[in-house]
Amino acid sequence: MTIWKSEHPNLNIPIHCTTYQHFFEETPNLDGAYENVTTRERLSFIDVKRKAEILSTILVERYGLQPGQTVSLFSGNTIWYPVGIWATLRAGGRVNGASPSYNVAETEHALRTAATKVLLTLPGSLDVAREAAIRVGIPESNILLLEGEAKGIASMQKLIDQAECDTSFHIMPTWQIPAGKSNKDVCGYLNFSSGTTGLPKAVMLSHGNIIAQCYQLRQLQVLSKPVLPSPEHPHGLPAYRILAIMPLFHITGLVRFVSYPVFMSGLSAMLPTFTLPTMLEAIIRYRMEELILVPPILIRLVQDSTVDPYLSDLRRTVKRWSSGSAPIAPEVIKALQRKFPDTGFRQGYGATESTACISAHPPSHFDYKYAHTGGKLVANTIAKVVALAPPDADPATHTTKEVLLGPREVGEICAKGPQICMGYLGNEAATKEAFDKEGFLHTGDVGYIDEEGLIVISDRIKEMIKVRGQQVAPAELEDLLLGHELVEDCAVIGVKDTYSGELPKGFVVLKNRGLEGVGAGRKLLEYIQSRVVGYKRIREIEFVDAVPKSPTGKLLRRILKGWERGE
Ligand code: AMP
Repeated sequence: MTIWKSEHPNLNIPIHCTTYQHFFEETPNLDGAYENVTTRERLSFIDVKRKAEILSTILVERYGLQPGQTVSLFSGNTIWYPVGIWATLRAGGRVNGASPSYNVAETEHALRTAATKVLLTLPGSLDVAREAAIRVGIPESNILLLEGEAKGIASMQKLIDQAECDTSFHIMPTWQIPAGKSNKDVCGYLNFSSGTTGLPKAVMLSHGNIIAQCYQLRQLQVLSKPVLPSPEHPHGLPAYRILAIMPLFHITGLVRFVSYPVFMSGLSAMLPTFTLPTMLEAIIRYRMEELILVPPILIRLVQDSTVDPYLSDLRRTVKRWSSGSAPIAPEVIKALQRKFPDTGFRQGYGATESTACISAHPPSHFDYKYAHTGGKLVANTIAKVVALAPPDADPATHTTKEVLLGPREVGEICAKGPQICMGYLGNEAATKEAFDKEGFLHTGDVGYIDEEGLIVISDRIKEMIKVRGQQVAPAELEDLLLGHELVEDCAVIGVKDTYSGELPKGFVVLKNRGLEGVGAGRKLLEYIQSRVVGYKRIREIEFVDAVPKSPTGKLLRRILKGWERGE
């Protein structure tokens, strides 16, 4: 067997509508809500719909947003974030999210790459956003605050409130997919990923991609028990509820905390800032039976004594833990099972390019026995495992003859399905590199599929480094290092770290080797630290005589990884 097919019944996924239309206009039940777990501020999906109708009209009429243009969100998790998203989608625009902790250069790259027209942000990120906007030519008048106030900057909430009171304000009709096209042809989302190689790129996700992923996830969903209204929860708690811990600008957040809760008429309880006690209290208060987490949080759950006072409540509440976005160590899985013996465990495996999940555990496999795997292919998805090319072969050309592997044979995981992205915005070369002639996405992940169809991820051939579930593109750090006067040549790779998963390490060839002992390492670390957001920082520098390269000049990172392992 060389092509694996999902074992789940095929789903009939609608292709005629946008996500906004499908979730807000075609779904009769808008009972759910987004709720801030700290302030308890709540936006029911009926409120969100009304506000999206108004804001979409404002975006088009006042800001000149045209179908296909981009609205970027630089913001932490707030219940107002989805209002910006749904309004943009209702107007036929594209939404794009990036880290609100980015510095000016990082934000500038994001705005340029996503071709941003309007920017939504929070007061804390305003200075950076404004400076970056100036650099790319976005007028200050096209910046709006999702929450809070700042002099001279429009407040999204005030604009909505004013329009609501204005009897002459008319809501424009919802944007429709043009005749002859389907939702698979229309990009609604731009999410950043560095893909196989190079700098972060804007992954184009269609309305169809997001709808498909929601259908695929629903097929595997086990619902919690709904909770009747009480003084603590005056609206009750719906059967689907989720704690939005990971950032909404990451694909998992966009799907799981913004989109899927509307589809499920559920509750997305948002944690504006993460602290372990706030998370634990929220799990208990909202009776969260399933948590979607990343490995570093699971590590804290098993190691941090802050958890102890909550332990018995957590044991009573949580039915299963779910991990994704990065590999999880077997010791963490074991410790979790020891601490919470009555819980189940599941993983989701995938990437931004696959709208999150290529595979996930079905309910029959919510068991620690399968915890080392990424689960099984979600519905309507096929996969193949391809023998790895020699380390110095050029992945761009896929020229080496493809050898398809069988069960338990280790190679590159490739997938095809309705959740696989449209490509990279304005970057045909990267798109070509990511897909082969048969339309399979080459994930850059190495692993195997066993006889039962369970995917096991063991390594990564793409350059991407994952630090606490967040992407770091070595190319970005290498470009910065090469800009330093001391550096002749360099390469950056990820090295294993118990807590963060990986951390960036630089191999540097100095122009003048004599400087090694006089603080060059410290200088370079500080230089990088002042130019990138915290999680991208290089933690260690090693000086070398040369970085290994192929005869064509391609950096051979696998050799560097071998050096790291002492080979
Ligand atoms: P992102 O696009 O940021 O979601 O990153 C996608 C990459 O994260 C994948 O290509 C994998 O390298 C890694 N990844 C995601 N989920 C898992 C998982 N369950 N196990 C191991 N690695 C994962």
